[in-house]
Amino acid sequence: MNNLASHKITKDIVSKYGFRFTKSLGQNFLVDEHVLSQIVDSAEIDSEDTVIEIGPGIGTLTRELSYRAKQVISIEIDKNLIPILSETLADRDNIKIINQDILKTDLHELVNEFSPNRKVKVVANLPYYITTPIIMRFLEEKVPLKTMVIMIQKEVANRINAVPSTKDYGSLSVAVQYYCDTDIVAKAPKGAFIPEPGVDSAVIKLEVKEDKGIELINEDLFFEVVKAAFSKRRKTLLNALSTFGSIGGKQEAKMALEIANIDAQLRGETLDMKQFASLANAYAKVLNK
Ligand code: SAM
Repeated sequence: MNNLASHKITKDIVSKYGFRFTKSLGQNFLVDEHVLSQIVDSAEIDSEDTVIEIGPGIGTLTRELSYRAKQVISIEIDKNLIPILSETLADRDNIKIINQDILKTDLHELVNEFSPNRKVKVVANLPYYITTPIIMRFLEEKVPLKTMVIMIQKEVANRINAVPSTKDYGSLSVAVQYYCDTDIVAKAPKGAFIPEPGVDSAVIKLEVKEDKGIELINEDLFFEVVKAAFSKRRKTLLNALSTFGSIGGKQEAKMALEIANIDAQLRGETLDMKQFASLANAYAKVLNK
């Protein structure tokens, strides 16, 4: 199918059901066939896979996923889309639509119910207003997950994928890269959607690491130290760490930096994952946590 045809199909469905887009639910439906193929191809789905999709919309991506996967479990918050999905996906027998808010869904229960013995793959054109909470819930709750291939705002994709000493590098980069290898696999201009969103988009692939390659004494403390290090981007690491609050003051910061063998005059944004790990482990010793 070409893009003109998929534009027309989407518009026809929307008008047939008198569907009204809800901006606050991030409803921008994908109508670019090339981007659609890029998402599905980079998810590398096989016939044994269970795919969790967040926000199926009118089912365009859902259908493509269902051709490759064993089953697709799609969580959609908008009850007005449920009768539309029943019709657009009527010929597919391996799709389960659940009318629920993904943020209120028990993710472990979901995976246990539909794929108890095999890690799932998440594929979604995400509602942008909750991109970070969705990603971080799957990762922090350690949901049995192989990969996430998700369409998100381009700026957020760049931040997740950023390397040290760049303007996009921040606590989100470190948090996601702690759990996953990251790769931007496609770009999507505004015109790839109906209605057009206000921002450009990108598809990012997050591959959950089997081995994180670092040993942490206290994982919560690691995330606290990362947040502290980025809390004052223009100040030195010593200043940012000393004034953050929850990890002690100047004395503790000096000691931890010395143990970790990190120059106190550096800026937080220059530290890589291994240095953050050393710093957090040094703090664990200093704070006895
Ligand atoms: N997958 C479709 C596509 O690619 O055309 C639609 C993607 S659209 C960007 C986001 C979808 O997520 C919408 O269908 C919206 O109703 C749904 N959604 C928004 N918030 C949600 C939430 N909290 N839980 C589940 N679905 C949600």
